[in-house]
Amino acid sequence: MSSPPIERKVRYERDLDPHFAQEISAMPGGEQLAHCIQCGTCSATCPLSIYMDYTPRRIIAMTRAGLKDDVLRSLTIWLCASCYSCTVECPKNIKITDIMYALKRRAIEKNIYPKRFGIPVLSREFFRLVQRNGRSSEGRVIVRMALKTNPFQYMKKKALLGLKLMRQGRLSMKKESIKRKGELTTILRGVEQAALELDRARQSGRVEA
Ligand code: SF4
Ligand code: SF4
Repeated sequence: MSSPPIERKVRYERDLDPHFAQEISAMPGGEQLAHCIQCGTCSATCPLSIYMDYTPRRIIAMTRAGLKDDVLRSLTIWLCASCYSCTVECPKNIKITDIMYALKRRAIEKNIYPKRFGIPVLSREFFRLVQRNGRSSEGRVIVRMALKTNPFQYMKKKALLGLKLMRQGRLSMKKESIKRKGELTTILRGVEQAALELDRARQSGRVEA
């Protein structure tokens, strides 16, 4: 019987990205990153920290240390519910919620977000449906999410509930769509283009982050 691969927990200096903290500090909300005093108020305030693999305080410390891969692969950034409690309570005015958004964006750009974890999959499938049809159809989003995460777990635990909701008319598999999809495509392309231009302008220092 082959033994499972051993996960290396120790991190060496070669694992660090010396530019990571700077990259995140340059993003909107990340400006005060260097001022963290590691007081832990954010972790104590966060209603979801007990479910996170790293608490918000640790994510800030790891970001500053340059542990880019560990931070971008973490579940924490996806579990953040954007409640802003940490941001309100932080004594150093660090916009932790915005930093979580910045980290999520980086994880998507680098394509290293946890691929079978429900939250990023749900947001991706929701966006794809809206992008294609102008509307999301909740039944379809759930099915796509189930197929791309853990279909067996859904079959075992959620299938009966889904059928019950469908019978009661509270969950529909009907495809919903808007009429002028072409206009939506043009708007989304425009937004994407504007975001790219803003990013380029920030990188070249033409506008402040
Ligand atoms: S509350 Fe603010 S200063 Fe304290 S650990 Fe969290 S980010 Fe750092
Ligand atoms: S914004 Fe996110 S990290 Fe901050 S307290 Fe709320 S859930 Fe936790």
